[in-house]
Order: sequence, then C-alpha cells, then structure tokens
Amino acid sequence: MIPFLDLQGQYLGLKPEMDAAITEVLTSAHFIGGKAVEAFETNFATFQGADHCIGVGNGTDALEIVIEALDLPANSEVIVPVNSFIASSEAVTRSGHRVVFCDADPHTYLLDLADVRTRATQQTAAVICVHLYGNPCNMDELLEWARPLGLRVIEDAAQAHGAEWKERRVGALGDVGTFSFYPGKNLGAYGDAGAIVTNDAELARRCRMIANHGRVHKYDHEFEGRNSRLDSMQAAVLGVKLRYLNGWIDRRNQIAAKYMKGLTGLHELALPAFDPTRRHACHLFVVRTARRDRLRDHLAAAGIQCGIHYPTSLARLPAYTYLDPEQRMSFRADDFGNEVLSLPMGEHLSDTDVETVIEAVTAFFDTSSVG
Ligand SMILES: *Cc1c(COP(=O)(O)O)cnc(C)c1O
Repeated sequence: MIPFLDLQGQYLGLKPEMDAAITEVLTSAHFIGGKAVEAFETNFATFQGADHCIGVGNGTDALEIVIEALDLPANSEVIVPVNSFIASSEAVTRSGHRVVFCDADPHTYLLDLADVRTRATQQTAAVICVHLYGNPCNMDELLEWARPLGLRVIEDAAQAHGAEWKERRVGALGDVGTFSFYPGKNLGAYGDAGAIVTNDAELARRCRMIANHGRVHKYDHEFEGRNSRLDSMQAAVLGVKLRYLNGWIDRRNQIAAKYMKGLTGLHELALPAFDPTRRHACHLFVVRTARRDRLRDHLAAAGIQCGIHYPTSLARLPAYTYLDPEQRMSFRADDFGNEVLSLPMGEHLSDTDVETVIEAVTAFFDTSSVG
C-alpha cells in the first residue's frame, strides 16, 4: 500500500518535539496570540523572504482579508485562473468583487498570461496568480504587464511554501501572498490555519487589524473587522514542522526527479513542467493522460493511492452558473479535469515506493498498448 499522504507517520516521526511544543502551549495557557504565534510569524516571514507575516485562521480567510485590505474599488473585476481550488475565486466574490476567470497553460497548468491580457478591462483591479501544485508562476512577465496598468498582484501560495521564482521565495514578489496550512499542504497544521506575507508595512497593518476585529489593542476598534487569527496551538505545531520544511521540499524534488526520469518516453503520458530557474515545492506531481480513469484504477488495484486536482474547472462548477455563458465553458483548461492524475508525493515515500509507482505506471502503458 502506497498512501497519497501519511500525516500519522509524520506525527510519529516528530512526536517528542511536537508533544513538547504542544505541552508548552497547554501549560502556558496562552491560547490566542502570545509567544508561539509571534515566533512562528517571524520565522515564516524569514523563511519566505518577506518583511511581514500575519497568521490567520486559514488560507481562504487569508485571501479574503488581503482582498479587503487592498481596498479595491467596489465591484472590481479580479482575474483568477480556472485551474485552482475554489477558495481562489470564492474569496473574490465574498469580498464584494467580481470573478473573471482566465485560462491555464496546458503545459505548466499555471495561469496563462496571454489569456489574462485578453480578459483585462477598465474594471479589472487585481490578478490572483496561483502557484499551483507548488510550481511558481512567471512573476517577471506577470508583474511587467500588471504594474504599468496599476493592477494589484495577489499570490495564492497555498500550495507553494518554499517555492522560488529565480531564487526568490514566492509570496511577497507581487503585492501580497497568502498561504494555507491545511493539514495536507506541504506545511500543514493539526487543523485549519493560514498566513499572509507582504513587504508592504501598511498593507500588513491593515490585514492584521481586519483579522482581529479592526483593532490593534484590546478595545480600540477603528473599523469592523472579523475574527480570523492563527491559534497558538497551531502556531506551535507549525513552528516545529517549519524546521524540517526545506529538507522535505528537497526530498519531494528528489522524488519528482525520479518520477521524471522513470516515466519519460511513455507517449500517452504528459509529465509536469520543471524549469531550472524555479524551485518547485512539489506539493503535487500531476501527470496527464487521455486514459486517466483506467490508469487510476490500475494503480488503485496495485495499492497506489492517487488524487485528482482538480476534477472540474472552476468556471464549470455549479457555483458559477450565475456567470455569463461566455465567462464559462471556453477554456482549454476545461479538459484537464478528465485527464490529470496526482501521483503519490511526499517525504513519506521511500525510493522503493517511488520505483513501485514508476513500474506500475509503465506496466499500464506497456501492456495496454499491446494489441
Ligand atoms: C488549500 C488551498 C486554499 C485554501 O486554503 P484553506 O486553508 O483550506 O482555506 C486556497 N487556494 C489554494 C490553491 C489551495 O490549494
């Protein structure tokens, strides 16, 4: 059995350190804010190469808070790639703005800048670039286009902790970036958690106030905010894991390199894009084939768990039937959902596991192409 994810094994490997960190929060009885949160925010800002980090309740809240803090004109258009998790677009609508979907590139699966350009109008105020699967977007091209137009660039880095565009960590390359620490992410909490990073001190201050009832101190509420803070317990958990994250990402890249080598030359299988100028966080290793369902069944029968990210393009979800028909149904990325398969990926995999996956995938295409 080769699991897609092994959170239990990860905990057991960290148990003494993790239990000590959690016990410290329990004995201090400092459950909101305090040392654990401050330490994590400082360390995560440093890790991502950003001046500021604000811990929040989850990655979706992070996006909503950021959009509110940017103070875009009411009812602005915000461009979001169709190949993502719904949080990327949901946050736009929840913040009182309009989602405009753009296509994703069939090779990188990231937002397609040529298509973004055609979708921008006078009402466009921001673009959310999703560093999907842990692969950083081309930030130079995006910023060169967006800056002169005065568009704000939000990086949804929920899957890309530690990823680098030209040796700079993602998150604060645009105006502001958001992270999720959902348990299955490369850096996962033991519950919901998220963070915002930016180099803009004023934006950071507004985000922090929005996430904490529009206040700085206990009762000085300057405006109505909300409650979306990073729990002290989650901060302690994340603080322990952050020490290992770089090593885990390196191991994920090693596994990806083995997959790339072992799976080349299978004509029906498209491998993910690896660009040597970007450090991929390898959150997911996504392959594509027209015979995806049969491949998935074949791997499942061999005890290999896979995932699908994502089965449906955002624009085609029932949640977006309210959009104009031409805003939906017209993306190359609409086909990804029937063809993509996420192979097991993570530091829990041994070299033997990786070889087993490679052999099973290869056997599927070899035997099924005969006759
Ligand atoms: C996980 C994820 C989110 C949302 O994060 P939560 O912490 O689950 O709210 C947002 N965007 C992307 C691309 C994600 O993968």
